[in-house]
Amino acid sequence: MSEVLVEQTVVAKYGGSSLATPAHIMRIADHIAAQRALGVPLVVVVSAMGDATDDLIALAAQVTKRPDARELDLLMATGELVSAALLVMALQDRGVDAISLSGPQAGILTDGSHGRARITGVEPSRVRQELDNGRVVVVAGFQGSTGTEIATLGRGGSDTSAVALAITLGATRCDIYTDVDGVYTADPRLVPRARRLDSVGYEEMLELAHQGAKVLQTRSVELAWVHGLEVRVRHPNSSDEGTSIREVAVEARQKVRGIATDDGMAKVTLLDLADRPGMAADVFAPLADAGITVDGIIQNVGHDGATDLSFIVPEADLAAAERVLRGLLPDLRASALDVASGLAKVSIVGSGIHNAPGYAARMFKALGTAGINIEMITTSDIRITCVIESRHLTAAARVLHQAFELEQA
Ligand code: ADP
Ligand code: ASP
Ligand code: MG
Repeated sequence: MSEVLVEQTVVAKYGGSSLATPAHIMRIADHIAAQRALGVPLVVVVSAMGDATDDLIALAAQVTKRPDARELDLLMATGELVSAALLVMALQDRGVDAISLSGPQAGILTDGSHGRARITGVEPSRVRQELDNGRVVVVAGFQGSTGTEIATLGRGGSDTSAVALAITLGATRCDIYTDVDGVYTADPRLVPRARRLDSVGYEEMLELAHQGAKVLQTRSVELAWVHGLEVRVRHPNSSDEGTSIREVAVEARQKVRGIATDDGMAKVTLLDLADRPGMAADVFAPLADAGITVDGIIQNVGHDGATDLSFIVPEADLAAAERVLRGLLPDLRASALDVASGLAKVSIVGSGIHNAPGYAARMFKALGTAGINIEMITTSDIRITCVIESRHLTAAARVLHQAFELEQA
C-alpha cells in the first residue's frame, strides 16, 4: 500500500532580539536557509529589529503627548516591515527564493481596536500561493488589516501572528525563536537559578503570560489552546527542542510551576464612594471603554453609606485612568482619588494550587521574612499574586523561587 506524504508547513517566528542588527538578520537567514534545505514549506514571522517598536513610540512622543491610535499603529507597523524586507534580501542573497508580506498582504484580519487589535481571521490564499511557488514566505508580525486600516496586536503581538498563521495553514506546531532557550520557572534575567521547563500546560502558560512572563503574548497561548496547537519556545543558536507548550496530563500537574513578575503597576483608590447598587459598574465600565485593564479590585467594608475602592492598573495607563475617574468623581460622590505608582506584581502559578492548602501562607511568610510588605493580594484557581513595591521585585522573585524549591526538578 502506498502512502501519500503531505508536506506539513512549518511556521517559525523570530523575535526582535534575534533580529537586532544586520549581522543578526544574516545569522537568522543562515538558520532559515538550513531549514529550507530540508525541503519543508516554511512560513517565517518576524518582529521589529531590537527595540525598534520602543524607538517608534518614543519618536511619536517627541511630536505629541497623545498620539492618535490609528497613526501610531501605522507608525509601529513599519518596524516589522523593515525586518521582513531585510530578512528576505538576506535570504535571496543566499540563493533562497523568498518573499516578504505585510500582515494585511498575508491576509491577517483584525478588529478595529488600534494598539490592541484581535485577529478575527486569516485569509491565507496569498501565503499558500507563494508557498506553492516554492518560496519561503516572511510575514511581518504584530499587524493586520481591519479591512480598511492597519491595526497592531498589542506588545509582543508577533507571537500571536505566528500562532494564527500556524493554525490556519494546518502546521503541526509553531516554533517561537527568542533570546532564551525555553520557558523557565521564572524570568532567568531576574532569577539566575531559574530552571528550564521541558513542557508547560496551556493553562499554566496562559496564567504565567498573563501575569507578566512576556516570553509569549497571552493571546497567542489562548489561541494555541483553543486549537490544540503545540507551541515551542526555543533559541535559534541551539539545536535543543526548547520548551513545549501543550496539553499536559492531569497527573503531571504541578503545585507551583513557576513565578511570574510584572513591573510598572500603579494603585488607584477612590475614597468615600456612595455605597449603592451599580457603583462598581459606574467606575469600571468607563475604564473598560477607555481600554484600561484593571486588576486586583478591593472594596473596603462600607461605613456611613460610603466605601473605599482600590485597584491596580498598569503605570502606563495611570494618566488615562486618572482622566476618566476625575470626570466621574462628582457623580460617584467620592471625596478623593489617591494614586500610588512604583508597584509590581509577583505571582506563583501552578495548576495544582487550588487543591493544596497552605500555599498562600507559605508565600506570605517567605515575603514577610524577607522584609517585603504586601500591598494587595489577588488569587485565581491556579495563581496567587501579591502586589509589592517595585524595588523589592527581584528579591521577591528569588525568595519565592527558593521557598517553593523550583530549582529542583
Ligand atoms: P522576543 O523579542 O523574542 O519576542 P521577548 O523579550 O518578548 O522576546 O521575550 C523573551 C524574554 O522573556 C526573555 O528575554 C526573558 O527575559 C523574558 N521572560 C519572562 N519570564 C520568562 C520565563 N518564565 N521564561 C523565559 N523567559 C522569560
Ligand atoms: N515589535 C512588537 C513589540 O515590540 C511586536 C513583537 O515584538 O512581538 O511589541
Ligand atoms: Mg516577545
